[in-house]
Amino acid sequence: MALDAIADTVPPWAEFRWIGTRAAEVDAVLVRSSGAFTRLFELEVLHLADEVTVYERVRGKTLPTFCPERHINADGSFCLGLRAGQGINSATAATWWTKLHAFLLCQETAAEARLWPSSAQLSHGDAGDIELLAEQAAAETGASAAYRDAVEFDIGPIAAGLSRINKATGRLRNGRSSCLCGRKHRTGKPLLRRECQCLGCPIELEFKRRAAVDRFWRSMSSLQCCGTMLECPLKATALSS
Ligand SMILES: [Zn+2]
Ligand SMILES: [Zn+2]
Ligand SMILES: [Zn+2]
Repeated sequence: MALDAIADTVPPWAEFRWIGTRAAEVDAVLVRSSGAFTRLFELEVLHLADEVTVYERVRGKTLPTFCPERHINADGSFCLGLRAGQGINSATAATWWTKLHAFLLCQETAAEARLWPSSAQLSHGDAGDIELLAEQAAAETGASAAYRDAVEFDIGPIAAGLSRINKATGRLRNGRSSCLCGRKHRTGKPLLRRECQCLGCPIELEFKRRAAVDRFWRSMSSLQCCGTMLECPLKATALSS
């Protein structure tokens, strides 16, 4: 069972206590890159259905009860990454701990700098899946750096290519001209936009990812911002409504 696997792989920075067959308490204190200790995190780990979820034992004690920017879901559970709580077994439990470790370190950065470390950021919700696909496509076309530029700073050729997308279809216009992502045939000849489409063009995927991010924030717009972060799209919705 998933929780047994987690119990078998407890790292030195955590203490694990069973409180039921599907529930455990975890206390964690980590060493930061500076060598200093983090705060004590008192957590609860539950195995519900096919998923392991982790919360703060007393919600809101150390962390906000809800903050999408800090990857704390509306029910207080932590978002440790895409499907991080699913399918945990003896082979993957150590990875789960690694994700929890990274999450808690990021919380310390967020508490002090009011920012989530951008290197640890994967898009929220469905957009995360699309981002992984796009990264893969960008790597194939030699556009990995351009893709990161588009996601993080909205600059570079992929970001610029977005303006050539037909918003109704999500496709690049002028299918018969060479693709703006720079993908080439083995012969070195540029691929046509409509050919690139079939393989998953990073520009079109980025368009899709941004739409999914918008949907994510719209779905949250009735919830309140925790106010601990410098920038949060929920603040903007609160102000504009
Ligand atoms: Zn927040
Ligand atoms: Zn998240
Ligand atoms: Zn393309």
